[in-house]
Amino acid sequence: MDIQLLYQHFRNSSGVSTDTRHISKGNIFFALKGPNFNANEFAPKALEAGASLVVIDEEKFAVAGDERYFLVDDALTALQQLANYRRKQLSIPIIGLTGSNGKTTSKELLHAVLKTKYRTAATVGNLNNHIGVPLTLLAIPDDTEIAIIEMGANKQGDIKELCDIADPTHGFITNIGKAHLEGMGGPEGVLKTKTELFQHLRENKGTVFINSQDPILSNMAKRFENPVLYPTKGDFCEVVFEDANPFVQFRVEGDSTIHTTHLIGAYNFGNIANALTIGKFFGVSMQEAVEAVKAYNPSNMRSQLVEKRSNLIILDAYNANPSSMEVAIDTFGKMTGKKHKMIILGDMYELGDSTEEEHAKLGELVSKYEFDKICFTGKYVQAALSKAPMRSLYFPDPFSFRNWLQDSKFEDHLILIKGSRGMKLEGLVDFI
Ligand code: ATP
Ligand code: MG
Repeated sequence: MDIQLLYQHFRNSSGVSTDTRHISKGNIFFALKGPNFNANEFAPKALEAGASLVVIDEEKFAVAGDERYFLVDDALTALQQLANYRRKQLSIPIIGLTGSNGKTTSKELLHAVLKTKYRTAATVGNLNNHIGVPLTLLAIPDDTEIAIIEMGANKQGDIKELCDIADPTHGFITNIGKAHLEGMGGPEGVLKTKTELFQHLRENKGTVFINSQDPILSNMAKRFENPVLYPTKGDFCEVVFEDANPFVQFRVEGDSTIHTTHLIGAYNFGNIANALTIGKFFGVSMQEAVEAVKAYNPSNMRSQLVEKRSNLIILDAYNANPSSMEVAIDTFGKMTGKKHKMIILGDMYELGDSTEEEHAKLGELVSKYEFDKICFTGKYVQAALSKAPMRSLYFPDPFSFRNWLQDSKFEDHLILIKGSRGMKLEGLVDFI
């Protein structure tokens, strides 16, 4: 493939797209293949929608004489190579981040902090895979001074592949927990996959930021010449956890002012400290960084607060895995503010062989606290009953659960709702 020619086309384009429904005039359309579609077939539609070029990988879809068809061996590889070529033209710091939980939250916080001083680009939403990372790189405006790239993984080798494309110069891992166990080959595989980012940074003399409160990560600091540690005894700033009831409160060492954020859950403290530390590293004033963190308001069901009559609901229906469940239950267990507490937990997906064992552990975790009502809903979460308090309720199907919620007419309850995305537990809120 002639990468320089493709890059020229890219420079003359208005951007790239892989979805005919979201094409803007002058876009380059990459015809990717999925399990149920072959976008080569959509090339004419893309041109109709305004694309200036279509990158296809099956000759039979090309139209002879029409120069708007750009034939390559593999459209996905072409997209990734173009992104890497683009990356090389940008001589700016790129901060890569991965981890089992909290990637998007950390990315958004860091973005909020860095953009107080720099023209900053960051992954939009959750575009963090082998297609999203190239799209993110190709969307970075020319005058950008720093970019933040979220990297997600389903299997070993994924993060290495993304690092090869994005070539981060700085990076951090939010944490190493139990997520996507199925594809990664158990906890060892998760560790190996996430640390592919650190490996890349070590080989390329990049800078790592390490959460010293995470035992696994802090152990890795030894492998680097100059790791930047946070949150306490930090090299750039010391951030001190104050409380999380429900919003995280923190303080910066040397200043007694307690700051209150819009983020729920003690686990968000690491994400906050990370953003402040990296901000300081890049020369953002602490005051501006703190203001940016305080102003950040999470959306999309990532630990949102919903008020329903006299009830306060912590809606965390965006995703769930064993480690995020554990921290969410612990945080909720310590919260106060209402007369009663109810915890509603749904299934965790993608756990492979660990499915039963990890759901059973939820039973143990909820037993540590005095919740007034404990509800489980879903298929796998039935396993929690073996270790949960006897009075726990189980609803295999959402309909019976909704009816029960509606009939119960709860008042003065603090309620946690958490389950995997596929469970769509946000739908329960209407029935409380
Ligand atoms: P994805 O894999 O979907 O990209 P993510 O890693 O980007 O997820 P976020 O979207 O930031 O994660 O957060 C999802 C949920 O993870 C939050 O609602 C919260 O329950 C939990 N979470 C966030 N930060 C942490 C953390 N540091 N430790 C544990 N759990 C966390
Ligand atoms: Mg994310």
